[in-house]
Amino acid sequence: MSLLNQAFNSEEFRTVGHQLINLLADHLRDVANNEQVIVWSEPHDEASYWANYQLKDDNKLKLFKDIMERSIHVHHPHYIGHQVSAPAPMTALSSLLGSFLNNGSGVFEMGAAGSAIEQLVSQKMCQAVGYDHHSDGILTSGGTLANLTALLCARQSHAGRDIWTEGGGHDLAVMVSSEAHYCVDRALRIMGLGDRGIIKIPVDDQYKIRTDLLEQGYQKAIADGKKVIAVVGSAPSTSTGMYDDLVAIGDFCQSHRLWFHVDAAHGGPAIFSQKYKHLMHGSARADSIVIDGHKMMLAPSLVTFLLFKNKKDSYKTFSQKAQYLWQQNEEEEWYNLAKRTFECTKKMISIQMFSLFQMYGESIFDEFITRQYDLGRWFGQYLSGEDHYEVAVSPDSNIVCFRYLAAVKDLDAFNTKIRRQLLEDGRFYVVQTRLDKGVFIRVSIMNAFTSEDTLKNLLHEIDQIALALLNTNYA
Ligand SMILES: *Cc1c(COP(=O)(O)O)cnc(C)c1O
Repeated sequence: MSLLNQAFNSEEFRTVGHQLINLLADHLRDVANNEQVIVWSEPHDEASYWANYQLKDDNKLKLFKDIMERSIHVHHPHYIGHQVSAPAPMTALSSLLGSFLNNGSGVFEMGAAGSAIEQLVSQKMCQAVGYDHHSDGILTSGGTLANLTALLCARQSHAGRDIWTEGGGHDLAVMVSSEAHYCVDRALRIMGLGDRGIIKIPVDDQYKIRTDLLEQGYQKAIADGKKVIAVVGSAPSTSTGMYDDLVAIGDFCQSHRLWFHVDAAHGGPAIFSQKYKHLMHGSARADSIVIDGHKMMLAPSLVTFLLFKNKKDSYKTFSQKAQYLWQQNEEEEWYNLAKRTFECTKKMISIQMFSLFQMYGESIFDEFITRQYDLGRWFGQYLSGEDHYEVAVSPDSNIVCFRYLAAVKDLDAFNTKIRRQLLEDGRFYVVQTRLDKGVFIRVSIMNAFTSEDTLKNLLHEIDQIALALLNTNYA
């Protein structure tokens, strides 16, 4: 049989496919009993393992198994590290379907279902954030790209001239919290704004943007000859999970006629939580909002909503024609999505979100967010009752930063060492972050089966590591 005939053999696909699904279903059932969430290996060891890898006896399942075994397990309740979802299994199936069908959803005729569904789920999200019928949204590959797209749109809308066509724009500036995600900084640099155009506003002791300093920052920028076009709010900021005051930022933007962008990549889905939607209060006035599906909406990477309060804005970003030409095209071409996204070929990501809405309804997000945020807040409280732990800030969300307190010379190095030991042991996966006060251990409670007990066990594990370090005369 030719290699191509082998590669497209339907019976083999059926057999290996069933085997793989069995493997994944067993993993899902048993993962909590695995001792390890990650089997740590040094980068060069991992590289050489795969460089020397050889598929034996054409055992295709074995290849999938080996990849799985050497990967971090986000479905393990001890996975409390980066803000990546443990995908609901049905979204993994829709993802498989999307990969198999491979309809590029840039052009309508290349993906009718995917394009129409994209419009539908985006509008569902627009309604959920409180936008009216003038709004519209698109899906794009990740919050990073979505923020860049939104900021390009802000520039097209507020620069006062057509920079997309004419170039320039080095006098422009955007105001953003010093705690904003680094991708916002990156986006502004890509746009040519440089250091000069990125006005970082300090945060308060809650790591929230100091809205009382916005006016001062703005006036200084004007005095320096800059033209401020936008303010970015974080909902929440990544390191600490604290939500900016979106109402105050919205008021400020309104009074100066600035574009108001909300980076809600992580915490936008709080809109679905009856208990926590107040955190997003004020976001309905934003001109654009970014919400990741692959963080707090149970979907696999990458699927991001970019929502616009005014539908027509979404067509401005990449419009290569003069402004007067937008009008006539805007409504009729919603279905040719590539007009509004960076991507040309794009994965069929809308069906993952649609599956969740159809199979479980949006209440699943209420249940999920409320549970995870409750747990984050509980953990913050619990930690503040422990003498040898310090919480960076009483958490708003499911992101919690804390550190072990000990009488050591270098507390940062000590906590870094603890985190490193946790990683090498592999029973828990947590990360770390550097805040103004120093290095903190950071957890994002992404998994729907992480519990209070899991977190108590994590602290127990940390206690043991810390005591062992102190006993070896760590100084
Ligand atoms: C995760 C995150 C991003 C980046 O999104 P990706 O989907 O990882 O590209 C941007 N902003 C915030 C606030 C985030 O939490």
